[in-house]
Amino acid sequence: MYLLKKMILEQGIVVNNDVLKVDSFLNHCIDPVLMQEIGKEFFQRFKNEKITKVLTVETSGIAPALFTGLEFKVPVVFAKKSGALNLDKDVFETSIHSFTKQKDYMIKVSKKYLTSDDVVLIIDDFLANGQAVIGMSELISMAGAKLAGVGIVIEKGFQDGGALLHEMGMRVESLAIIDKMSQGKIFIRNEEENKK
Ligand code: 5GP
Repeated sequence: MYLLKKMILEQGIVVNNDVLKVDSFLNHCIDPVLMQEIGKEFFQRFKNEKITKVLTVETSGIAPALFTGLEFKVPVVFAKKSGALNLDKDVFETSIHSFTKQKDYMIKVSKKYLTSDDVVLIIDDFLANGQAVIGMSELISMAGAKLAGVGIVIEKGFQDGGALLHEMGMRVESLAIIDKMSQGKIFIRNEEENKK
């Protein structure tokens, strides 16, 4: 995904050697043209799976997940982090550790929106240590649904998440993989399909 890589290199801010800030197109201000391309790319990669739902976690996963759901023409469910009063009491829930906030929190999905008939594609903005994806995969297991795969916009390849999810047998497709961040510079892995 040429456009994504270009935006990461031109607009990404290296907060420290572990954290990348992409507020100008993904995490605060959202670029809809980029999101549309992301949705189309995930559709191309997973179109042979019979996806019935896209699952993400609020907030930053929602934009790429929504455009992916649009391509598949399936509902997009986002796991809620807060104990919102208006959320059904009948929920699947699990605890995950936040890499950016360095704290544990609960994620919940109403039992109405994940069922044993579902074939689910997980979408998230970043993959760091894999905890958000593992938490979402636990919700899918609780529902008796099937996990078809995981689509990640930006994977930090120097952290453990990618290897961990592969070991767990998950199919992970990342649109950009960052090999290293150092002295304010971002090094993105070069892959054939990224030449597009
Ligand atoms: P993980 O659960 O894989 O450790 O971390 C993934 C989650 O943490 C993502 O949902 C994302 O919101 C956040 N995250 C992890 N690393 C970064 C980063 O470098 N930049 C930003 N903006 N978010 C990150």
